[in-house]
Amino acid sequence: MAKYTGADCRICRREGTKLFLKGERCTSKKCAIERRPNKGPGFHGTSRKKPSEHNIQLREKQKTKRIYGLLEKQFHSYYVEAQRQKGITGENMLMLLEKRLDNVVFRMGIGSSRGMSRQIVNHGHICVNGRVVNIPSYQVKRGDVISVKESKKENEMFKELKGAKIVMPKWVEFDTESFLGKIIENPTREDIDLKINEQLIVELYSK
Ligand code: SF4
Repeated sequence: MAKYTGADCRICRREGTKLFLKGERCTSKKCAIERRPNKGPGFHGTSRKKPSEHNIQLREKQKTKRIYGLLEKQFHSYYVEAQRQKGITGENMLMLLEKRLDNVVFRMGIGSSRGMSRQIVNHGHICVNGRVVNIPSYQVKRGDVISVKESKKENEMFKELKGAKIVMPKWVEFDTESFLGKIIENPTREDIDLKINEQLIVELYSK
């Protein structure tokens, strides 16, 4: 799948908010948004004139798409699927995004960012119910057991994970000694700690 390859911090500055794309750097003082909170990308930054309704909806969609590291076609497909399901379309869409395997690997703290977590999945380091799954978009289900592949546990990449204390949402669990985790329940809207107004995205796509 093609992906955006520009500087991650530039994307955050474009959206005017932290999107947590670079792992530990995002919670440190080195974060570009922390250092210069009101500056857009480029030397002079972007002008901040009053945006139109369409532009507000568009930016919310772009922001969310970038948080989850998706391109338009794939992101839109989550909206289409969410619309097909019972319930509130915007919330359904966020739940589908949260249940992607790469996001789950990030939520469990196995990868320090969603980008890194996607690589971990792509490289075949993650098993679901004992079998390697190397598809980042794989949808997990309640009860699924997520683990680091036995032969990869000693990999340099997971050295700092061993015994680490990780804060994770209540719908997942992951033991940093055994490298075994589980999907305890389906995520709910309250479990998503991101500042996303999903209704704006639904309004944009339903035009
Ligand atoms: Fe965004 Fe992280 Fe860069 Fe901060 S450090 S601007 S949150 S990618």
